Amino acid sequence: MSEATPADTIRCDACPVLCYIKRGYTGACDRYANHEGQLVRVDPHILLDRAKSQGAPLVPFLEREGEWDGKLGKETFLTAIGAGTTYPDYKPAPFIVSSVVEGVDLVTVVTEGIFSYCGVKLKIDTDRHLGPERNFVRTQGETVGHVTTAEYGSQMLSIGGVRHLTGGTKSEGRATCETLLDLCNGREVELTIDEGASVRVASGQPPVVNGQREERMRVGCGSATIGMFAKQWFGKVDDVVVVDDHITGVLSEHQAGKMLGVRESGISIKGRRSTAGRYFRVANPGTGWGGTDISDPLKILNPFKPKVAWPKLRLLMVSTTGEQFAYYELDEALRPIEKDLPDALRESVVRIRENCEPALTTVLFMAGAGGSLRAGVTVNPVKLTDSVKHSITRVTCGGAPAYIWPGGGITFMVDVARMPENAFGYVPTPALVAPIEFTLSKTDYALLGGHMDYVRPLEAVLREKERQREVAFSPANPWPLRPRKSGGPEE
Ligand code: SF4
Repeated sequence: MSEATPADTIRCDACPVLCYIKRGYTGACDRYANHEGQLVRVDPHILLDRAKSQGAPLVPFLEREGEWDGKLGKETFLTAIGAGTTYPDYKPAPFIVSSVVEGVDLVTVVTEGIFSYCGVKLKIDTDRHLGPERNFVRTQGETVGHVTTAEYGSQMLSIGGVRHLTGGTKSEGRATCETLLDLCNGREVELTIDEGASVRVASGQPPVVNGQREERMRVGCGSATIGMFAKQWFGKVDDVVVVDDHITGVLSEHQAGKMLGVRESGISIKGRRSTAGRYFRVANPGTGWGGTDISDPLKILNPFKPKVAWPKLRLLMVSTTGEQFAYYELDEALRPIEKDLPDALRESVVRIRENCEPALTTVLFMAGAGGSLRAGVTVNPVKLTDSVKHSITRVTCGGAPAYIWPGGGITFMVDVARMPENAFGYVPTPALVAPIEFTLSKTDYALLGGHMDYVRPLEAVLREKERQREVAFSPANPWPLRPRKSGGPEE
């Protein structure tokens, strides 16, 4: 891996930067060092110990970590975290280990992949409008991603990707890489969106939008909320409007109200009527009620229809999280006058809030492993792609299950919250370094042209102990060393 030039300097060839590293120093990424003339991987090599996790309560991975005691066990999984890389990929992966599980010979190929084609998808549980779709997301003034299609109760950001890493200026690439690394390693990142909000996000933590910590994810869209709670409102109020930037619901017009026999109220909603009791675009997107820009819900109402409405008509207006609500009664001129919320309705508003799940940020790392990394696994790379596609080879990232996208290549996604902490690194090309493990039967490994001469028993690798650190396996994950059911699909 190294070549001496000059006497006390070695050259690292673990990535295209090819650092010259003086004795006692680390390279540009701080992952490799010159330790007494030897090139060494600095971080501990992480082993997952299943026995430690069984029967134990769920705790963060690193709370029960420690130096590896050399104990041999069948329930140990060698992750790629700290394993080193295969770069420049003509050579076999740093660890190719065999183990016998339930009488089946398995092989796990372990490497830290260098990913120029990678990014994260951020799922931010909030109704608040973060910014128009397609608008840029920035850190340190650099563009690092964009707003993508919103999902049910969540705003979605796409961060990173090869264009930001390699296709812009040097500082754009650097800022993108830094942002990805922080997000993947669970650190908080502040992002600003053009013509939108500023958000602070970290994996598994509530998002903070414009300085306000988000507590709840919406119970549903306005229409769904009407459907869920119609019965609880029936008889206690004459009409209900659930304000939502996407689909505002109106009880008296909604199918749920019709089926219960709710009387027409003469209410008239601004915006575009989609179907009965469901309205689009009642206001502009924003950070107010139900992801609209309004703080006064009456702004979405036209005057009540005089031929239908009646004085003292009772109206509840509520947002999709139940955090905002207002109760009105019509006066003689059919104008809504705000009153205290009756106790009979308070319960339903509390119920909406109760049904909201905690708002969280999810960081999904997504990358393509269908390139040269495959050569570290097999001399015939396309066979690895086929094997993964046919679920013969299981892909994990630091022991966490990876979702493989259908179609060509090995495009995978993994929830970083399921991985051990600080599983990611970087190289200044810039690119992210992520652990990836391929597990399959020894027979299948031979069939796909695996580097059979480099297969070592797991026990032998564990005995080396150097830099190894054991970490409790998270019981929330499926154990990665499971023999695949013969002919059956991957679970
Ligand atoms: S950046 Fe890191 S991996 Fe790349 S050559 Fe330098 S020390 Fe090695």
